[in-house]
Amino acid sequence: MVMTRDALLNQKGGVAKTTTTLHLGGTLAAHGRKTLLVDLDGQGNLTTALKLDRLNPREGLTLARAMLEGCDRAGARSLVRRHSENLYVIPSALDLFTLPRNLHSKRSSEERLTWVLELLEEDGFDHCLVDCRPALDVDTDNVLRWASHVLIPVDVDEFSIEALELLLAQVQTLAAETRMPQPHYRGLVINRIDRPFSGFHQKVYDAIHALPLPVVGEIPLRTAVAEAKNRGQTIAQYEPRSDVARMFRDLAVKAGYLPETTP
Ligand code: ADP
Ligand code: MG
Repeated sequence: MVMTRDALLNQKGGVAKTTTTLHLGGTLAAHGRKTLLVDLDGQGNLTTALKLDRLNPREGLTLARAMLEGCDRAGARSLVRRHSENLYVIPSALDLFTLPRNLHSKRSSEERLTWVLELLEEDGFDHCLVDCRPALDVDTDNVLRWASHVLIPVDVDEFSIEALELLLAQVQTLAAETRMPQPHYRGLVINRIDRPFSGFHQKVYDAIHALPLPVVGEIPLRTAVAEAKNRGQTIAQYEPRSDVARMFRDLAVKAGYLPETTP
């Protein structure tokens, strides 16, 4: 199986990009898929949610340094940490904060993530999911240049709809500029759903369903999500029988990662 290259992208903050990356990735790992998560946000929420250490730019290679200075296969492999069976992570580092500024002066500035992650293509990963920071900048261009698939986490908020229009326009522009095919959109995941809805939230929810991209997941607000994070686990490890774990499984099926027959 060729590794799927997935960007979890939305320039809006707090829509559960990190949470979706974490628990979708955990679900895939629990189903025997060797999965690599990449924390491309300097805040490192994905890294800390899994209780992994950030990489230290003063002690060795980081993803940002590899992108800026280049690296070989051994260098790329040195970025990867094992969290648990089938689940691997390239942790965040503080130098991701200055990465966009430093990338601007480089040639082929939007190709650099591809250069690094392609070095890991032969390591048997089935899926690679990149958790992006909430921005549309040269670092997100790097993710789009690399990605074969895009999954868009949203929340039930009016601004989610505006943010999505901007995001789709950015992808289209980049594809045209780089003469690359557009990535395949898996669809939208609506996160942090808190029912019963007010009339206003119902309207926004309906408007999200009316968007041109399919809704492939609906994840309710649950304390188990916060509890799993406190333990450094994915929901598939912490509470595999919970409704929210099942909803991440449904997402994995509907978005096309796992077969329809998944239990
Ligand atoms: P983003 O990466 O888009 O900024 P996060 O994944 O960090 O968003 O989510 C924002 C906050 O919402 C975090 O504190 C996260 O733990 C919480 N959260 C996300 N999804 C859920 C959920 N389904 N249930 C409860 N809390 C959630
Ligand atoms: Mg995040």
